[in-house]
Amino acid sequence: MVKSAVKVIVRTRPTANFAQGYLDVKDGIRAININLPKKNETQNVVNNQRESYSFKFDNVLHNSSQETVFEECGREVISSFIDGYNGTIMAYGQTGAGKTFTMTGTTANYKQRGIIPRCIEHIFQEISNKPEKAFNVSVTYLEIYNENLFDLLNNDPTGSDDYQIMEDAKGVTFVRGIQKVATTSEEEALSLMFEGEANRAICEHQMNKASTRSHCVFTIHLESRSRVESNGQIVYSKLNLVDLAGSERVGKTHSSGQVLKEATYINKSLSFLEQVVIALSTPSREHVPYRQSKLTMFLKDSLGGNCKTLLVANIWGEATQLDETVSTLKFASRMMRV
Ligand code: ADP
Ligand code: MG
Repeated sequence: MVKSAVKVIVRTRPTANFAQGYLDVKDGIRAININLPKKNETQNVVNNQRESYSFKFDNVLHNSSQETVFEECGREVISSFIDGYNGTIMAYGQTGAGKTFTMTGTTANYKQRGIIPRCIEHIFQEISNKPEKAFNVSVTYLEIYNENLFDLLNNDPTGSDDYQIMEDAKGVTFVRGIQKVATTSEEEALSLMFEGEANRAICEHQMNKASTRSHCVFTIHLESRSRVESNGQIVYSKLNLVDLAGSERVGKTHSSGQVLKEATYINKSLSFLEQVVIALSTPSREHVPYRQSKLTMFLKDSLGGNCKTLLVANIWGEATQLDETVSTLKFASRMMRV
């Protein structure tokens, strides 16, 4: 089997109403089995036929703490990032499954902080342990909603037609026009994350767009140069921390208007992301279709190859959510098995 371009980790959100008997999470052997009553066209359960699935993943984190999730996801990505390689960690799943909890966490409780604040903390720690190198850290915070770009570090987060995804001569992608803010400490970088979160919330009111319908990308940019060698090259790397839009399918009640438009954009961009990952994992590929969406254009230099790329598929193991859980695990396993 060819190695996938991404490492796929499933994380379950703890629930009191776990779908016992239907959903079997075998985290020890990194497997998840699902056994559902078969449904007919009108979604009513018919007789005792069953629908079964068995999935295997790179890792399965069942009811794990934020610390464990960081240890399993963040560590290796950060050390390769410090060494000059790009990295991407993406949270995928239905709304309510824990994507934002995984990436940002709850800010009120220090133990509950997510991958972004922990990455920030560890990056500044690692940097301070390498006095032989000079580092510059800066951050950007991009939101992609209905294929429009928004700058979450701008005080006027209403978007601009001037923002544009570009690629420089070395193949480094960037967004023209958005703020890239230099930071010299963990505190500064954290406060930018908070600023972005606040703008994300303001946007929800002003523009009537729920943040769960957009992709948010917090990017840490690193420049390093040897202090020892007199003509040391500057090495540039990026770490993209992505809270993807909710993957749920919209029901027939929302078959028109804004919700349908948003859902169409989300479905397309998640499916284009999948197409890119599958193309990257196919040695005989002739073409990787990055240009189909803003998200894949932006992540072009940070997926596959030497980049560490991780997908955290968040699932919500309640009986009422089983359909979405199956759909999330199918997506995640397509990203694995190529
Ligand atoms: P999403 O971003 O996927 O829509 P959220 O991250 O907002 O989902 O999670 C929904 C709710 O569940 C939030 O109140 C969040 O704090 C809680 N939650 C999610 N995952 C966990 C977890 N692993 N442990 C505890 N609470 C969680
Ligand atoms: Mg969310």
